Amino acid sequence: MLRNGLCGEFTEEDIGKETTLAGWVSNRRDLGGLLFIDLRDRSGVIQLLFTPDDEGLHERAGNLSREDVIQVKGTVIERGEKNVNPDLKTGLIELDVDELTVLNETKDLPFSPTDGLETNENTRLKYRYLDLRRGEMRDNFRLRHRTFKVIRDYFDEEGFWEVETPILTKSTPEGARDFLVPSRLHHGKFYALPQSPQLFKQLFMVSGFDRYIQIVKCFRDEDLRADRQPEFTQLDLEMSFVEEEDIISVIEGMVARVFDRVLGEELDLPLPQMEYSEAMDRYGSDRPDLRFGLELVDASEIVRDSDFNIFSGTVESGGVVKGIALEGGSSYNRSQLDALEDYAKREGAKGLLWASVEDGLLEGPFTAHLEDETNRGLVEEFGAADGDVIFLVADDRNSANSVLGALRLKLAEDNDLIPDQGWEFTWVRHFPLFGKDGNGGITSEHHPFTSPTEDGMNKLEEEPLAVKSRAYDLVLNGIELGGGSIRIHRRELQKRIFNVLGISHDEAERKFGFFLNALNYGAPPHGGIALGLDRFVMLLAGEESIRDVIAFPKTGMAQSPLTGAPMEVSQNQLDELGIDVRD
Ligand code: ASP
Repeated sequence: MLRNGLCGEFTEEDIGKETTLAGWVSNRRDLGGLLFIDLRDRSGVIQLLFTPDDEGLHERAGNLSREDVIQVKGTVIERGEKNVNPDLKTGLIELDVDELTVLNETKDLPFSPTDGLETNENTRLKYRYLDLRRGEMRDNFRLRHRTFKVIRDYFDEEGFWEVETPILTKSTPEGARDFLVPSRLHHGKFYALPQSPQLFKQLFMVSGFDRYIQIVKCFRDEDLRADRQPEFTQLDLEMSFVEEEDIISVIEGMVARVFDRVLGEELDLPLPQMEYSEAMDRYGSDRPDLRFGLELVDASEIVRDSDFNIFSGTVESGGVVKGIALEGGSSYNRSQLDALEDYAKREGAKGLLWASVEDGLLEGPFTAHLEDETNRGLVEEFGAADGDVIFLVADDRNSANSVLGALRLKLAEDNDLIPDQGWEFTWVRHFPLFGKDGNGGITSEHHPFTSPTEDGMNKLEEEPLAVKSRAYDLVLNGIELGGGSIRIHRRELQKRIFNVLGISHDEAERKFGFFLNALNYGAPPHGGIALGLDRFVMLLAGEESIRDVIAFPKTGMAQSPLTGAPMEVSQNQLDELGIDVRD
């Protein structure tokens, strides 16, 4: 070894020890003859001291540049009183150096890792190896490693096997666009990269593997956001002979173990649960952020008989009048309120009504149309007081919920109502099995292998949109950590679902015939879940973008500034694949 210690691990107990260390020059300070250098390796930094008594050594140290790689030999000594740094593990000591070897020089750094985040993200991603030298990044990846290790150990103890599934495979029905890989041996045919190992893990259950997990890369060609990447890492799990509570409790055990071992925090189990319908009604979202209030209030009954037609007419035709009260909101001025209305419209609202509470009554552009009784009733229903503002929409239930759900988040952010500390988990259960697909058809809310609830079985054909699924999502601080379901394990039911979805026998056979076949040969009742580990680690690390916990992420345009991918390929490669590229 070129060293016999790690920079960050020395303390005052090591005073007097001789050691050889190696690492990067992180910083240099010249204090009238005494030269200090921070030497950094993965474990942290130690201060090196060069005194002027060895002139040659002092001069060579004086010529070092940031990020040069060096090896030093010296003795651990106590720092002079003025140089003590109580915030640093090595802050009481330094290394008095008597030998210096330069292992590699660094030239013209594009940016210095010690500059923190002033550098733009593109440059940081292009020179990601430099960016990864930053202390915050090192901590993120240590945490990522620890989390994965704790998860694997936990599932091993619980009797799960980790088994890999194919990467070159066939389209999986998670509802996103596939990444395709052309086949050289079969021109015109393509593999798809898996959006998830969904069908393979279900096949493991048919194989009798009983308990499967995999920490696995998944690929979805979607538009990117701060919490989305084209390739991401899931904790994928499937279990046989189980019901919802079995999956939920095994996942809760894992989450609690990670909190304990990685953060040193205790989680209260079981975690809260909420029906999907309640999440939508109270928070306007299927991933409710429970760190703050601002709950949606349904005022339909109060306004049902009002003379104000916008309200009563909406309720009459089956819609709702719902809103949010913002404490102290009357400090909003007219242009801020107009901006909020514009925001609500962009989120799909027909309009946004607002009024402030003055002397116990609502006062706003529309309140002249309200009878006193209705006016007072609204104030009461919202639990509002003088100085508050109430925002209202009148629409069908789904649109009202989704607009108010977005407005709720915006109001919370704008008014700083979201605490930065604390963990608010909830399971969301019993999603609708189907949703509308935007073209008048019906689509699966999760994927078509999700089981309906028992009492939904007889409504499948007549009232599909009213059928609930045996699906569950786990939400943390308003972010969906993941979801899963109890699956369909009988072929007849699977056929009925395809029927409702308008997937013909031929199409089902072509797409999933291999899987449907397996349902004929003794598929046990089973269920599972998948959690997005990048998001989980992001939250544990206190980061706001999954790019900060993925070593080599893509940009928002799905490019890698480091490698230049995606790239053109040679004509030769295209010819072999039988591919012509169109302009
Ligand atoms: N395959 C699903 C997903 O990736 C999760 C599951 O149903 O287990 O979202």
